[in-house]
Amino acid sequence: MATQPLQILLAQPRGFCAGVERAIDSVERALARFGAPLHVFHEIVHNRQVVDDLRGRGVVFVNDVAQVPRGEVLVFSAHGVADSVLDAAQARGLRVIDATCPLVSKVHQQVRQYSADGRRVILIGQAGHDEVEGTRGVAAAEPLEVVGSAADIAALNWPADTRAAYVTQTTLSIDDTAGLIDTLRQRWPDLQGPNTSDICYASQNRQFAVRALARQVDAVLVVGARHSANAARLREVAEQAGVPAWLIEHVGELNPAWLDGLQRVGITAAASTPPSLVDALCDRLVALGASAPRALPGEVERVRFRLPAGLDTPALPEQ
Ligand code: SF4
Repeated sequence: MATQPLQILLAQPRGFCAGVERAIDSVERALARFGAPLHVFHEIVHNRQVVDDLRGRGVVFVNDVAQVPRGEVLVFSAHGVADSVLDAAQARGLRVIDATCPLVSKVHQQVRQYSADGRRVILIGQAGHDEVEGTRGVAAAEPLEVVGSAADIAALNWPADTRAAYVTQTTLSIDDTAGLIDTLRQRWPDLQGPNTSDICYASQNRQFAVRALARQVDAVLVVGARHSANAARLREVAEQAGVPAWLIEHVGELNPAWLDGLQRVGITAAASTPPSLVDALCDRLVALGASAPRALPGEVERVRFRLPAGLDTPALPEQ
């Protein structure tokens, strides 16, 4: 009996979110308007292909404002920056274009409000991640504490009557965050938090979609950067749903042995992964004998964010 070809199912939604599209669009428009070299603080999004492509077109990525010549344009990445970075850029006379995702800016605003209300703020997130370092650097009356686990919470020696509040990194898994928030509330019953979860719509949608996908396949391939928080979460969610899952940055990392004995493989992509990387993976699987990919039904996202100030009006004609 002839064996059936491997079926490819695609999660819906997957790949680019509105915040990433806006950030990349911002850099491309700034390049067109101000020319190269154009300086960007941190990788504009966590994807090597996107970053390498922009670098090839004259974008210079910096981790220190002092690397940018005085008076030049500096674009902030989608992950946001600490207030001290904005202060340093202004002190240097740089023209700032802030491509911070509006959902991250919202978290910064929440930190300011809680601090103004006399609360100490806990940031649930992954220490060292660009977004977390930016949020942690929002000027507050008292420094933020970053927690990523129940052990981190146990290590906080704040009194039980501390007026505490929390915010979260936008890309965390819904389940993990709920558990940590419960733990925080047990320690500080007066805990305040945002009305709705800070986990962004795109992260939630991709996590729901990969869970639904995992129920219908034998294994999941997640296309995304290894240092992308939401790519890592998608792989975890798929595994928690009971199937093996691999995170690959590009098709070159596919190991055909993973496909042995599979009838159906699922594919999803992180919010910072361009569609071309998923297309290349599908092409490779089809070349290996799979049938044409089929997208599952799912949420159709219509979220669009306005461009940052300074780019939201047409350029003035040259005099
Ligand atoms: Fe913004 Fe969410 Fe996209 Fe991050 S994943 S850039 S928070 S929309």
